Amino acid sequence: FFLLWAIAIQGAEYLKYKDPKQPLHARINDLISRMTLEEKIGQMTQIERNVTTPEIIKKYHIGSILIGGGSEPAPHASADTWMDMADEFQKEALSDRLGIPIIIGTDAIHGQNNAFNATIFPHNVGLGATRDPQLVKKIGAATALEVRATGIPYTFAPCIAVCRDPRWGRCFESYSEDHKIVQAMTELIPGLQGDIPANYPMNFPYVNNERIKVAGCAKHFVGDGGTINGIDEYDTIVDWNGLKNIHMPAYLDSIRKGVATVMVSYSSWNGKKMHANYNLITGYLKNKLKFKGFVISDSEGIDRITSPPHVNYTYSVQAGIQAGIDMVMVPYKFVEFIDDLTSLVKRNVIPMSRIDDAVERILRVKFILGLFENPMADRTLASQLGSQEHRELAREAVRKSLVLLKNGKNTDEPLLPLPKKARKILVAGSHANDIGNQCGGWTIAWHGHSGNITVGNTILTAIKNTVDPGTEVIYNENPDREFLNSNDFSYAIVIVGELPYSEYVGDSKDLTIAEPGYSTITNVCESVKCVVTIISGRPVVIEPYLEKMDAMVAAWLPGTEGQGVADVLYGNYGFTGKLARTWMRTVDQLPMNVGDPHYDPLFPFGYGLTTTPTELIAAQ
Ligand code: BGC
Repeated sequence: FFLLWAIAIQGAEYLKYKDPKQPLHARINDLISRMTLEEKIGQMTQIERNVTTPEIIKKYHIGSILIGGGSEPAPHASADTWMDMADEFQKEALSDRLGIPIIIGTDAIHGQNNAFNATIFPHNVGLGATRDPQLVKKIGAATALEVRATGIPYTFAPCIAVCRDPRWGRCFESYSEDHKIVQAMTELIPGLQGDIPANYPMNFPYVNNERIKVAGCAKHFVGDGGTINGIDEYDTIVDWNGLKNIHMPAYLDSIRKGVATVMVSYSSWNGKKMHANYNLITGYLKNKLKFKGFVISDSEGIDRITSPPHVNYTYSVQAGIQAGIDMVMVPYKFVEFIDDLTSLVKRNVIPMSRIDDAVERILRVKFILGLFENPMADRTLASQLGSQEHRELAREAVRKSLVLLKNGKNTDEPLLPLPKKARKILVAGSHANDIGNQCGGWTIAWHGHSGNITVGNTILTAIKNTVDPGTEVIYNENPDREFLNSNDFSYAIVIVGELPYSEYVGDSKDLTIAEPGYSTITNVCESVKCVVTIISGRPVVIEPYLEKMDAMVAAWLPGTEGQGVADVLYGNYGFTGKLARTWMRTVDQLPMNVGDPHYDPLFPFGYGLTTTPTELIAAQ
């Protein structure tokens, strides 16, 4: 009877894989047994949103779509526009023969940073300084809601790189040079995916399927933060113990916390490209650590197995798939990928068992996510994008991420917290009134952008909101001596730093701040009592200027909620952040990490002065 009933409501044959009452493995096996080679390879293929059409989804049975940095569906797209886009793709996939839902993934690495008006949280370098994994977990939960508010169930986060050299342009994506802090911050994963229920199988991927959570991705496997001189995508030269003890531990935590996917690193380990590393991907990650989610390549990562990239693509496809990559991020050249992989399987170079392993893992994540039962966007979530609650959380994160590195020329004369009541104050610097600069890379655009790129509070606005109404706030981006001499300021806040960047363009040999930052510091601090706030994705060269400053704060890349900076400068909250990175004196010292012999930093790992909130001072 049950069978008849099921047939009746399906209006067709009973399909075991569509039955949520069936055990997971039965659904997966049933579906795989029905799939053609073309359909299987389609599942393994992830293509860019901006080349995706309904025809392509159908023709190639595409399994996944990527929305990389700066690939929003339209400028300033609303949550509904995002959801319309996602639903259109989904409808197309569902109308294919087997109706396998597509999975859309995006780089939501500090909030849903591709969407206008999303809450932008501090980048990981700042979160590391909070030393607060529970806060990071809450950020994961808020990010999941905002990503779902754009119709997307999958984010390529967290980056669990252990950045050992700040010259690396992705250092800001790393929580710390210390793997223990990175391990602790894998709490982002249960934040994104949900808490694993009691009695859930150990080390098995888990995502809450109620459309309020998203699948996460631990990246980039493995050793991305250890490359020589911090050169992006380069070679990490370290012995097995070094790899295992520094770069690997956070993967064990991630798997324990049920991470759904792992992304492979562009980098090499001792000269061998990670994308072709069978021993680490299949031997270690899949067999030894028993990771059961799917392994995704980086964007065009298999192309770069050869150098120069893409010279022998068939070989690259073979090497990558044989190494154990399950889903391949082939944003544009997907036809070539599909043709090559099809022929490799038909020629028995790649066994069907390898393809089935990949498809099984991809389907597992799709089933666990609930995509088969709930494939469409949940419109009720639209208001989550940039919600007040999330902005408050981001503001708290900003407060906790700030590290006070100097407070007063003499320690008995601290400048901070600043008085709210003053006659006239100066706010200066290239980063005082620029949302784009305070968000950094991976915000609206891939490399980020200066200027008014999204909704938020600049630090200047925040300062104006915080001081007493009687305090006159003068803003001058780069004041000259004449201006400074003709005004009588009570004190100045100088906000300077790095301009936004991301992959490889952010690699730096000198670690200097953007022009005219140093001269702004010099001019202002030689004339007025000053607190310098540095906006940067990593420690920058500052020692020659430190003497001139009365106080110095590392604010990292705080994101849209600049109010958090003013909260702490003005003593509504105390400074609590601690360096999760060593602050070098000169670049010649690099790489230099905590525990190294001859450790002689400007500010050591763990450093950070504290202040007492003004209210408490008053009460004393
Ligand atoms: C980056 C990844 C990112 C991917 C997709 C790559 O260039 O290395 O971290 O997830 O692009 O945007």
